[in-house]
Amino acid sequence: MIECLREADVFEAIAFGRWPADADAELRGHVAHCPVCRDLVTVAAALQSDRQALVGAAQPPTAGVVWWRAAVRTRAEATRTAMQPITMWHRVVAACVAVVAAVLSRDLWQWGRAADVLASFGGQRAALVLVGLVAALVLAPLALYFTLADD
Ligand SMILES: [Zn+2]
Repeated sequence: MIECLREADVFEAIAFGRWPADADAELRGHVAHCPVCRDLVTVAAALQSDRQALVGAAQPPTAGVVWWRAAVRTRAEATRTAMQPITMWHRVVAACVAVVAAVLSRDLWQWGRAADVLASFGGQRAALVLVGLVAALVLAPLALYFTLADD
C-alpha cells in the first residue's frame, strides 16, 4: 500500500476549503510531484465540490417552523400519553357492554325466558339495575377522565 506523509495535510486543505488558492505553495508543489496526493486531490476536490453544491441548494426550515413542529409533536405525544388510561378503560367498558348485551340478548331472545328473568328480579328492581348499569357505564369514563386529567 502506497502512502504519503503529506496526504493528511492535502486532505485537510481540501476539507477546509483552502485548496488550491489558500494552500501553501510548498504543499501545491508537493501535490504536483506526488501521484498519491494528486489522486487524493482529484477525488476529494470532486466530493467537496458536490458537498458545497448540495449545501448551497439545501433549504432547511426556519427556526420558527422547527420550533412549531416540535411543539405540535410534544403536544400530540402528551395527549396520547394522557389518553392511554382512558382508552384502556373505554376498552374495558366496551368489553363489559358487549358481555352484558350478549347475555341480555341471549336471555331476551326468547320472550318467555325474559319474563322469567324480570319476574325473578321483580320489575322495578330489574329497571333499577339496568338504570344503575347504564349510569355506571356512562359515568365511569367521565370520572376517570376528570380524575386522571392533569389540567
Ligand atoms: Zn503526497
